This record gives sequence, C-alpha cells and structure tokens, in this order.
Amino acid sequence: KVHAKKVKLSDNVDLEIVARGTPGFSGADLANLVNESALLAAREDKKAIYMDDLEEARDKVCWGKERRSRVIDDHEKKVTAYHEAGHALIGLHCDNTTPLHKVTIIPRGNALGATMHLPEYDKYTHTKTELMDELTVLMGGRCAEEIIFNEITSGAYVDIKQASAITRKMVCEWGMSENVGLLNYGDIDGYGQEPYHGGYSPETAREIDLEVRQIIADVSQRAMDILTTHRDQLEKLGEQLLVEETMDVFAIKDLLDMPVGDTENSRRFKGKVGLSSDEDTPDSGDGDGTEGVPLLVEAPVDDDVEMPTPVIPDALADDDAEVDNVDVDDKAKGKVVDGPLPETAESRAPDRYDDGTDAVTE
Ligand code: ZN
Repeated sequence: KVHAKKVKLSDNVDLEIVARGTPGFSGADLANLVNESALLAAREDKKAIYMDDLEEARDKVCWGKERRSRVIDDHEKKVTAYHEAGHALIGLHCDNTTPLHKVTIIPRGNALGATMHLPEYDKYTHTKTELMDELTVLMGGRCAEEIIFNEITSGAYVDIKQASAITRKMVCEWGMSENVGLLNYGDIDGYGQEPYHGGYSPETAREIDLEVRQIIADVSQRAMDILTTHRDQLEKLGEQLLVEETMDVFAIKDLLDMPVGDTENSRRFKGKVGLSSDEDTPDSGDGDGTEGVPLLVEAPVDDDVEMPTPVIPDALADDDAEVDNVDVDDKAKGKVVDGPLPETAESRAPDRYDDGTDAVTE
C-alpha cells in the first residue's frame, strides 16, 4: 500500500484485489503500475485513479500497449479471433495451465492479438504435467486455424518458437524425457552442429531431436482433439470475439456456460465506474495530483527463453510514444500467448529493485 499512498485513488479501488491480480510483481513493479494508471487517468481528465485504470495499466505493463490505430484486414482479424479462441479454449480445458485472464484481438505490443494468463501465485518451478498443458495451449492457436479455415498462416511463429524452446529445455535441461534421461545437454555449446564438440554423440543429438519432435507432435494432437471435441465452443467464442474484441475470463465463461472459480473471483477487478461518476476523491489541495508522476523503474530482464525482438516496420511504430515509459518487453509478469515475451519456470529475476527505490509517489 505504500506505493499508492500519495496518489489519489477512487473509493472503488481495492488494493487487495490489485495485488492479487498482479502476482510476481515486486514493490517497484507495483509502484510502476500505479504510475501507469495515474497517467491513464490523467489522460482522460479523471480526478482519481479508478479500478479500470489500474487494470489497463496492469495489462499494459505485462503485455504492452493497445494499438487500436493499426488497420487490420477483415479476414486477418477473423483468423486472429479463432486463433486466440483456440489458445483460450485449450486453457479452459486443461487443468494445469496458468489461469486464463483475458483474450483480445486488439493489437497490443507487437502482436495482432493475445491470450493472457495470470498465475495464481509466484511460481518458480513447473511440473511436467503443467508444462505439457502449457505446450498444448501454445499449439491451440495454430490448430484452431486448421480446424476452422483448413489453412494455416505464419501467425503461429511465436507460439512454435516458444513451444520449441520449452520442449528443448524439458528434454535437455530438466530431465523430463525418459529416453534421453537425467543428463544436462542444455548448457553445452555447439549443440547439433559439430559432432562431439558439444560433449555428446551424434546419436544422442538425434535422440534429442526425435524426443523434442515427439513431444510437440503429442501436444499438437492433444490440442486438435480438444478443439475438435469442443468445436461448437470454438466457433461461439471466435464469433463473439469478433464482436467484442476483448473478453475477460468472466465474459468467456459466461458465454460458454462454464463455472467461475474462487481464485478468479477473488481478483476480479470490479467497479468499471463511468467518468461521470461522482465518486471522485475530493481534491485535498496538497498538490499531489497525477501530473508529472512518471518514474522509470528499471525492470528485471527476462533472458531465460531467448526470443527475437520482433521487427516493427517504421510505419507501425508507436504512435504516441510519450506515455511509453515502461519497457514492456522486460516486464512480462503474466503469461501471454502471442504477446511480447513469454515467461518460463525460471525466468523471473529476483526483485533486485525492491530495495526501497519505490519512490513513485514522492
Ligand atoms: Zn498464437
């Protein structure tokens, strides 16, 4: 609560809920979140920060800024809707995935759409079962395209890249393949290039390749099975996404008649109060308004899974960069499918900056 003490908050803001909806955030991250929401509120001439400002700030810090100005072709938008619906549905039908948060086909960060997940709590290790479920979710987008359009696009590039990286770690570093065994092949240079240079034989290299390929084939098949079984839900969700563009887990479960869990309920960001509401906190006159608040907090660097920095053509570059005071690529705290950067089991850096430098409100 320290991080918000000098910023005016609307009465409808419940910091407990904000904290529950931001697992993995350090004190500095939370300070940054309040900064972001203060900026958003100020841009709409609000006198205080509302829950919807905090929610949008959280999504922006985790997954990048919405880019509504991007013009998307209708068919591409439709493909994106079903692609994201595929990810989301698999998430809802696998028991061990990071809980679904929201699905959007509004471009955010560098992605055309995104399926966002928020962990229930800070997690530093993952079981094989969880990883297999996450991989199935990653395959869901591509599989949905195949089922609905009988055609595939290049849009699953990031999914495939991410899935390959996780699977390789499972086999080469985390000892999760019986065939390959409990040996670490991951930190050795020259993998798959020069025989023996990397410390293991060409036969082992081949075995690793086969194992990685088999795992990906298995999770792809599982994703196809789930989406084929629930094709009615896939079509329903895809169609609705095209209309609403963004749906949170509550809207999705409502549409599909699925029960909402306790954890989901406990961090529901309530109170989408309209701008005309009279709930504005009275101006205390101490000059601590939201202007000039932004503070750059250096972010922990996520360097676990190496992802290429997506190339954004100049034409698509940020159109109002002045509010981008957060390096979102370094801030991925939740999981996102198709979004800026993935988070993996060991990617969270320690809270190096949670050392009292949370001076957002000073
Ligand atoms: Zn995807």
